[in-house]
Amino acid sequence: MLATTHVILPIVVVDLIRDYFLRHKHRRLIPRKYVFFVGVGGILPDLDVALAYIFNFLSINLPDMLRHGRITHSILLPILFFTLAAGLWGGTKFSKGKSKKQHHQWFLILTLVGIGMLSHVLLDGFAGLTTPYYPISNAVAFGAQRINQQMMISIDAVILLVWLFHEEWHHNIRKFV
Ligand SMILES: [Zn+2]
Repeated sequence: MLATTHVILPIVVVDLIRDYFLRHKHRRLIPRKYVFFVGVGGILPDLDVALAYIFNFLSINLPDMLRHGRITHSILLPILFFTLAAGLWGGTKFSKGKSKKQHHQWFLILTLVGIGMLSHVLLDGFAGLTTPYYPISNAVAFGAQRINQQMMISIDAVILLVWLFHEEWHHNIRKFV
């Protein structure tokens, strides 16, 4: 799966949802610059590629769970992020002032990174290259090889076009209304 797809797909989806489906008061709670964290989450699972290089460089045997597409591509990871985010959301209810603001900020970051990771796990899962149920099961994915590389490149192109159109149309319209 291409790194570009992993970054731009979730960013564009979240940005579109933010612009079209959130009410003004909710949109205010998710500043636009935070959408960046979705991209961070989108690339995070492929950290295993970097780890493999480092382990190889240091001539250390790579643990099985860190092999490409294993633990970092498990659906449990975004679930963990969402669970922590839920805890922080609870924290916003019981805190005040600065502490409430911090709780909200971290809730937002964990949720957005979690969304990016979930998107990565699902995309790679559908491409049939990873084990999304790891460590519960080593089964590959949600149906092997539903998406191939060639299709990925077209997906990137379509996403970018949709986004450009949206940017042009939505933000121009806003200047007049
Ligand atoms: Zn991946």
